[in-house]
Amino acid sequence: MTMSRSMAMLGLLAALAVNAEQVPRWQQSPEQLKAAVSRVRAGTDLTPASWPEGARVAVSLSFDVDTELVWLEDTEVQSPSTMSRGEYGARAGLPRVLALLKKHDIPATFFVPAMSMELHPEVVPMIQKDPRHEFGFHSYAHENPLKLNAVDERAAYEKGLKIFMSHVGTRPLGFRSAAWDLTPATIDIVKSLGFVYDSSMMADDRPYRLISEGQDAGLTELPVEWILDDWPYFQLDWGDGQISMRNADDVYSIWRDEFDVALEEGTMFILTMHPQVIGHRYRMQMLDRLIEHMKSKPGVWFATHAQIASYVGTGPSLGGGVPANDQD
Ligand SMILES: [Zn+2]
Repeated sequence: MTMSRSMAMLGLLAALAVNAEQVPRWQQSPEQLKAAVSRVRAGTDLTPASWPEGARVAVSLSFDVDTELVWLEDTEVQSPSTMSRGEYGARAGLPRVLALLKKHDIPATFFVPAMSMELHPEVVPMIQKDPRHEFGFHSYAHENPLKLNAVDERAAYEKGLKIFMSHVGTRPLGFRSAAWDLTPATIDIVKSLGFVYDSSMMADDRPYRLISEGQDAGLTELPVEWILDDWPYFQLDWGDGQISMRNADDVYSIWRDEFDVALEEGTMFILTMHPQVIGHRYRMQMLDRLIEHMKSKPGVWFATHAQIASYVGTGPSLGGGVPANDQD
């Protein structure tokens, strides 16, 4: 594989940045500090004047089907018991998630690492039973891009995309980085691989245009947030000391209030969940209640991430989505 000119340039910029970072921040000039934060920035706010059919808020539920890979990546320990926590996501959590979406008749976006599809080939057809659900790309094997150079990062995504397409049958429109980490090269790679949106960054609650190295990156960002992720609330990880066996009512009240303000502001509410985390019984009851709450409000548009990206101005035109209640 030959390295493109832009990749070579990015490599050079990254090398310069690494050198600059070896100097303590307080010794750097304002220009150096500006350069350090400016590689990828938020551009234009893409919130539309109104959402489809006059809806006041767009809601998109996403599920990252990381299965065992998240444990394989993060720990040296390869205990079958640890791995089984990920297996739970495919075996017990995902069927519950799909049943809940069916009950409420709403679509969702599933970010599935390519190797999760290989480890659990039943997962893709299970999700495809409702053709409204979207598959987004979520790495080859949940590799953290920060551990890769630009050439290896691209190679990992190309390898993952081949496997992804062999299972799903179509090319993904959306990219979500494993662990939401990006390298200075990621956005350039993601754009060149044909994605139309990214969902890994946190500069806003609203959809926005991505700026890379001062230029429009040609990608829409559908931002995420740790507040709107099930992992820090619920996933026990002995090493990180977080309080993770939460009463689901606590999380319900945070997510409900986040949604209520999104509705008031007329913006967007994106939740990131993992079948191995949210898929446990008492948590699914909470998610059921949350969806009930959202459906009880007028003007809520339930859509996939791709439908939102399409509506706010990038990507192919995609119909669909479900207004929960079009009464005003
Ligand atoms: Zn993940």
